Amino acid sequence: MFDVIIVGAGPAGLSAGIYTVRSGKSALILEGKSYGGQIINTPDIENYPGIKNISGFEFATGLYEQATSLGAEVKYEQAVSIEDKGDIKIVNTEQGSYECKAVILATGAKNRPLGIEKEKEFVGYGISYCATCDGAFYRNKDVAVVGGGNTAIEDALFLTNYCNKVYVIHRRDTFRADPKDVEKLKSKDNVEFVMNSTVEKILGESSVEGIEIKDKNTKETKNINVSGIFVAVGQEPDNQMFSDLVELDESGYIIAKEDCMTNVKGIYTAGDCRTKSVRQLTTAAADGAVAALAACAIID
Ligand code: NAP
Repeated sequence: MFDVIIVGAGPAGLSAGIYTVRSGKSALILEGKSYGGQIINTPDIENYPGIKNISGFEFATGLYEQATSLGAEVKYEQAVSIEDKGDIKIVNTEQGSYECKAVILATGAKNRPLGIEKEKEFVGYGISYCATCDGAFYRNKDVAVVGGGNTAIEDALFLTNYCNKVYVIHRRDTFRADPKDVEKLKSKDNVEFVMNSTVEKILGESSVEGIEIKDKNTKETKNINVSGIFVAVGQEPDNQMFSDLVELDESGYIIAKEDCMTNVKGIYTAGDCRTKSVRQLTTAAADGAVAALAACAIID
């Protein structure tokens, strides 16, 4: 029996682990993939207070080591369901079942696909959702980054170091990414911005050879030859397995306010998986602390 079981070992889940064990309670963190969540693939973090510059991997590893050295237990098991038995909750994974007094859902979010033909088929053959993981394969080649948020601009910046040319394809004429990073990207001489445009088709027989893009204003289409397409069009939650347990909004995010409480007693949520307006590393870590302290407060 654990005091608190945390589902997800991203920044929110690991922060929740730190605050749980520092409150004198036991914590089990369940993770289906690897620790760190999405931040592990971020090349440079420059907006976490107190740290001027750090790679996502280094940050996530530091957070993981901090949580485990303080006593949080991490098991690499995918949670598949949660049973609410009042004061006791049962978390079932693919390997076993664990009992606890409170649960924190910190499942983060997953990459949103473009949803066009050949996208799924060409993953690993020119389609990537992670520039830091796959960027080096495209050394001296032409690539496209699709999206206009922080991920797209950071990915494009990273890829300008390796690639011959980086096309940034964005569906509007302004970016939602931090202006500072957009300006940095504009100063690169191997980047071309293709604004007000959407990717209509992925070209190539057995791997990516190009894209067909459509200008939203003129409706004209044109082909661009690229060997790689980095899709960075945002995230979507992965909470369907909890839809019978807690209330989700119409987009699938767990409904909770800044207190991180769900509609079920003893079940809390933290980080990108919950309804919120700002999804940042700092807000994920903050959620972890808030959820853990709230969970610990109901445990004797
Ligand atoms: P995001 O901010 O949601 O941006 C997604 C981008 O993709 C938007 O520009 C959006 O266009 C575009 N888009 C969405 N669906 C599309 C589609 N079907 N076809 C074409 N374009 C599409 O996602 P993100 O960049 O992954 O960032 C997610 C969250 O993490 C954000 O809160 C972000 O600030 C945060 N983040 C922070 C950092 C950092 O602080 N260092 C780094 C990475 C991410 P519109 O603009 O037209 O909606």
